[in-house]
Amino acid sequence: MKHGLRVGVLALQGAVDPHKAHLEALGCEFVDVRTRAVLEKADFHGLILPGGESSTMLRLLNVFEMKQALVDYANSHPVWGICAGSILMAKHVENPEQESFGFIDLDVRRNAYGRQLDSFTCELAGMREAAFIRAPQFTRVGPGVKVLAEHGGEPVWVEEGRHMATSFHPELAWERPSPVHQAFLNKL
Ligand code: GLN
Repeated sequence: MKHGLRVGVLALQGAVDPHKAHLEALGCEFVDVRTRAVLEKADFHGLILPGGESSTMLRLLNVFEMKQALVDYANSHPVWGICAGSILMAKHVENPEQESFGFIDLDVRRNAYGRQLDSFTCELAGMREAAFIRAPQFTRVGPGVKVLAEHGGEPVWVEEGRHMATSFHPELAWERPSPVHQAFLNKL
């Protein structure tokens, strides 16, 4: 249990609310991060960039002028990117190419695991199920990046320093708290 910890979830778009039950099951407070002011205040110990649509999230980060605040936050706090969030954290993005923040030395290929209908779940990393929904493929991991789980011989959960990325959605599994939420809290 990590009582007293506060975890922010970027709440501009995507799968935000499902994190609440996982964080609360671990004794943490869920902080809804939807304004630049909240992000700049940084009154939470770590930040989750949720799954959703990375191009839409980028557009909203631009519209609300939150990009610099996100970079500043990541320079001094742990960030965990899930699916679309992992795409934002990568160094290089293809299919199609897209701007990204490079918080982790990772290259990704968007929508590599099929269309919405082809999305699948599987057993992974001590979880009973892991949901891949139009997930990116982690095509290159830098030498400083640690692979924490693979699926089909490819990395799907990585960490570098204080940051972490998963191409799948642990928050959508019924098992609460997920081992991945637990691992993130151990970094805070
Ligand atoms: N396909 C989405 C993207 O490229 C990611 C999907 C997800 O987050 N489940 O941004």
